[in-house]
Amino acid sequence: MTPVRITAIEAILVDLPTIRAHQLAMTVMHRQTLVIVRLLADDGIEGIGEATTIGGLAYGDESPEGMKLAIDTYLAPLLIGQDASNVHAAMQRLEAGARGNRCAKSALETALLDAQARRLDVSLATLLGGAVRTRLPTLWTLASGDTERDIAEAEQLLAERRHDTFKLKIGRRAIADDVRHVTRIKTALGDRARVTVDVNQAWNEADAARAIANLEAAGVDLIEQPLPRDDRAGLARLAARFVVPIMADEALCTPQDAFDLGCRGAADVAALKIAKSGGPYAVLRTAFVADAAGMALYGGTLLEGSVGSIAAAHAFSTLPRLAWGTELFGPLLLTEDIVTERPVYREFCLELPQGPGLGLTLDEDKLAHYRRDKGTAPAAR
Ligand SMILES: [Mg+2]
Repeated sequence: MTPVRITAIEAILVDLPTIRAHQLAMTVMHRQTLVIVRLLADDGIEGIGEATTIGGLAYGDESPEGMKLAIDTYLAPLLIGQDASNVHAAMQRLEAGARGNRCAKSALETALLDAQARRLDVSLATLLGGAVRTRLPTLWTLASGDTERDIAEAEQLLAERRHDTFKLKIGRRAIADDVRHVTRIKTALGDRARVTVDVNQAWNEADAARAIANLEAAGVDLIEQPLPRDDRAGLARLAARFVVPIMADEALCTPQDAFDLGCRGAADVAALKIAKSGGPYAVLRTAFVADAAGMALYGGTLLEGSVGSIAAAHAFSTLPRLAWGTELFGPLLLTEDIVTERPVYREFCLELPQGPGLGLTLDEDKLAHYRRDKGTAPAAR
């Protein structure tokens, strides 16, 4: 079979407005910047991917602008001329030629998988071995910063049957204020909803122990990344001390992370993200190790738009066990989108799109409007 050659790769910065300010321990988001990758092969088939992070450099060590630079300058040249139909060989070439940069690599792996699945006329999940679920439970993050507004938002989403699990972003304020905020919300929602908290590494161990004791008593269902990501010994002590499950997020990116955390008994739950691991296939390698180590799995997000969220959904749909569902709500945080048909959220779940590849089509007008370099973009592709 004649190889299909990669002929062009474009990385596009896209700035989209969000429905409200989104408060986290390390930043307040007022918009989201996507890095959209278009990968073209000489059989005319294009694959798309997305690399997105939270708050510039506030969450991870790759920024949107840095990812575009890495792709344009170093990663794309490694792939041009390579066989587009061999995703593993292409990604191995990237690994050999460029260290780290897993978020940028995730966009490229997604685009390669999307293109190859389209080439074979199958969905991305089918290319990954097949979906065992087509509906993924998806939580919502209450992050307005205002307790009463968060409760009203949760009540409305419960009534609409859109979400029945709510994650609260804490760690930004004093512990007593956070505990009061969370307790008030959990008390208001009662058994009608699961309530989880994400501290995004903001506490030290002593503060975490004090706070978690109170949150556990309040009935909180899950504590996400209470300590800095490198404090694995501290995380293990917290996991041993409390009944409420502890989830590793920032601490868990690679299969090696999952192995080490598993050996230490440092986490009850593993947050998986395609961007942290380097793509839809790469995240499955991490998932299998975490699963084998006895961690329950959770499909996380870096607040990607539709392309990145649906790429993650395809990967997560293939996992035999996904006890904690997902948080693939990124598209719902955006007021505008760059795909023709937006992802569907219904009955507390995200529905996996049908159709070849990701099952998404770029909206060229919207993309042209929201790309940061509009005006300098080529008129025709
Ligand atoms: Mg998190």
